[in-house]
Amino acid sequence: MATGTLTIDLDALARNWRALDSASGAQTETGAVVKADAYGLGAGRVARRLAQEGVRRFFVAVAEEGATLRQALGPGPEILVLGGHMRGDTDMIADLDLVPMLNSIDQLTRHFEALPGHAFGVQLDTGMNRLGLEPAEWAAVREIALPRAPRLVMSHLACADDPEHPMNAAQLALFRDLTDGIDAPRSLSATGGILLGDAYHFDLTRPGVGLYGGEPFLEADPVAWLSVPVIQIREVQEGETVGYGNGWTAPRDVKLATIAAGYADGLIRAASRGGALAFSRGQACPIVGRISMDLITVEVGGLDHEPDSLDLLCAEQTVDDLAAAAGTIGYEVLTALGQRYHRRYRETGA
Ligand SMILES: *Cc1c(COP(=O)(O)O)cnc(C)c1O
Repeated sequence: MATGTLTIDLDALARNWRALDSASGAQTETGAVVKADAYGLGAGRVARRLAQEGVRRFFVAVAEEGATLRQALGPGPEILVLGGHMRGDTDMIADLDLVPMLNSIDQLTRHFEALPGHAFGVQLDTGMNRLGLEPAEWAAVREIALPRAPRLVMSHLACADDPEHPMNAAQLALFRDLTDGIDAPRSLSATGGILLGDAYHFDLTRPGVGLYGGEPFLEADPVAWLSVPVIQIREVQEGETVGYGNGWTAPRDVKLATIAAGYADGLIRAASRGGALAFSRGQACPIVGRISMDLITVEVGGLDHEPDSLDLLCAEQTVDDLAAAAGTIGYEVLTALGQRYHRRYRETGA
């Protein structure tokens, strides 16, 4: 088999959720964000394991994701749709028991007209200017929305990955201003907000990336492990060039391995210039030349053995290390991991 193997450690996922649940505090429920196919790792398997751990509320981006998730989870767990109630979603929301987070007056009107009595939540904008009712809109509709008992009233922090950022306290103050005294459960924090402390936790937290082993949850256990088979090994003489555009010239005689993954598998081209490495039994090997669509060349002469495969996500190189090499964030590396890998779920139940 010449495709890489992406191993998804469901036990590590469960440990990360338990750690974030405990950081959220005993008074606060901890949900899970499984949008974008659980950040690329497989929403069905991820959500089923988290449900076993005790997660009762799952967040997705759009109703279609909610529909897929309902098939995987069955009835019971609450599935909240961050994108709200869009035109064309009504049947899915009703039939699969999804809870749209209503983001605008249009969405409120649509929901209350199409599905009176059906569960909903409300998303408020506290400064990010991405999704949610503005404070003035909320003032206009809160007496219509609140008597219908929203399942959740939430907002989202723009700068929670930077604890020093003044935006955090400003959004917290506005959220309290908009929601203090209401009966509905409240939620403000994703992974970053959980780490900001108790004042940010309210009734429910909504971690995503921290579950999957990414920053800003620095204590996270890695969840995604990627190993790619070596297709060919060759000797290259000093002065010979490697890859598209003659991107790399051998500074001395070297031994190169060509491995079977590339940018079509989410291994971002910029990572090779940014110093991404490949590993064999924990020993580092530099990536040389350009990353191509399906192939990467790696200098392996420094190893004390001939490798059958090389690791790109491993203890020595995390999702965030690979992201830093590519000039991006761990979220993008995770969600870019393609569909071509053989996916293996590791689970002992521990
Ligand atoms: C993506 C998202 C989350 C999860 O954020 P992480 O930073 O991955 O923990 C929570 N809430 C909303 C509204 C989101 O869009």
